[in-house]
Amino acid sequence: MIVMKFGGTSVESAAAIERVAGIVRARMHRKPLVVVSAMGKTTNRLLAAAEKAAAGNLGDALRDAEELLAYHRREAGALARGEDRAAMDALLDSHFEQLESTLEQIAAAGQLSPAMWDETASYGERLSSALAALVFPALGVPAVHVDARTVLITDSRHTQALPLYSRTYARFKEKVAPLLEDRVAVMGGFIGAAADGTTTTLGRGGSDFSAAIAGAGIGAEEIQIWTDVDGMLTCDPRVLPGGRRVRKISFEEAAELAYFGAKVLHPATVQPAIEKNIPVRILNSRRPDVEGTLIVAGTVRCRNPIKSIACKRGITVVEIRSLRMLMAHGFLRRIFEVFDRYQTPVDLVTTSEVCVAVTIDQPRQIAEIERELARISDVRVLPNQAILCLVGDALRETAGIGARIFGALRAINVRMISHGASFNNVSLVVRDEDAVAAVAALHEEFFREADPEVFE
Ligand code: ASP
Ligand code: MG
Repeated sequence: MIVMKFGGTSVESAAAIERVAGIVRARMHRKPLVVVSAMGKTTNRLLAAAEKAAAGNLGDALRDAEELLAYHRREAGALARGEDRAAMDALLDSHFEQLESTLEQIAAAGQLSPAMWDETASYGERLSSALAALVFPALGVPAVHVDARTVLITDSRHTQALPLYSRTYARFKEKVAPLLEDRVAVMGGFIGAAADGTTTTLGRGGSDFSAAIAGAGIGAEEIQIWTDVDGMLTCDPRVLPGGRRVRKISFEEAAELAYFGAKVLHPATVQPAIEKNIPVRILNSRRPDVEGTLIVAGTVRCRNPIKSIACKRGITVVEIRSLRMLMAHGFLRRIFEVFDRYQTPVDLVTTSEVCVAVTIDQPRQIAEIERELARISDVRVLPNQAILCLVGDALRETAGIGARIFGALRAINVRMISHGASFNNVSLVVRDEDAVAAVAALHEEFFREADPEVFE
């Protein structure tokens, strides 16, 4: 058994769904469980409608719902034949009736509660998965729909729910695995239900997480994340084109890269898969023959000390200098309490005897934070910075990395550098305007010669 997860762009149109069916058909002997995201931008559009309803514009919200209905009818309708058409119309009508009543309830409440946010957002995956299951047979894929809310059981933290693992795994094993014997099962990602049956979601982008949970639940031999890129690259293509594909990478390395903004994989995906030792493969649904990137437990031997360079742009550095010459005890605690109070996550931290520097990527509350910190320290806020993160499990054992990094960055001012907290990365902060040049220089230094076993 394998899990095949397809993101929103992979199911955004009739042509895309047809392509997905072809990819699944070619892998039917591996007994796939297919996990799909909402079609295209549906989740954003549903949530925009919910916001309008909450703000009192029920008319606009209902018009948005109509447009979404038309979009689903057009794309799925192009694939539905004969009696499938009637089934599809019934399915769309009943879902949109429910969606309209959800929007009406939101409008009546005059606010969008987290539970209603989940309820509204869930229509995207409920529809995409039911429609895909409906049209697959005509495309040569015998299929059955699984409502994720009957198997993926979560806590009730609406908009950010976490699975109740043992219950969820038991349901996948009992209810889903047997279906795969003679058919493909299609399930929506992102959504689940609390123990009392109310709809929950796993957070934006949560379909990858669903795929990992599902894979762990059925005991899959592989979890495939089908997206629109060839896999993980040696550098972020949005920052620097021309990176090489990484054939194989460890879970730890992939998690580190995901955290630092490599948009390919949701970091939380890694967890259930690691625990069950299930490899995850990133694949491109537009180029299904490319072998992608395989993410495995354990280290991946490689002649290059790093596998990839991630880059997170537009971050803010906060430099905090103790007012006394030496840091009094409790200073760090007081600093972090301030960030905590404003619910602002801190990514990177460096300290010296008198100074602490931290990076944040969410500067919404920075004015308040700065004011509070100024009571206990000298503070300097530096916007427009970038974090570069060199990731590789071999970093720890390789001598001379620091010299190579600083040699490559000769002409660029490095504001912060951190290595050690997680042994597999070195993180640097440079000015955002230097980010592209810095990535280019480091990429040239570390990938001029690339181990063909590991890099394309
Ligand atoms: N459709 C959801 C979102 O847009 C989940 C996902 O695509 O993974 O956030
Ligand atoms: Mg996604």
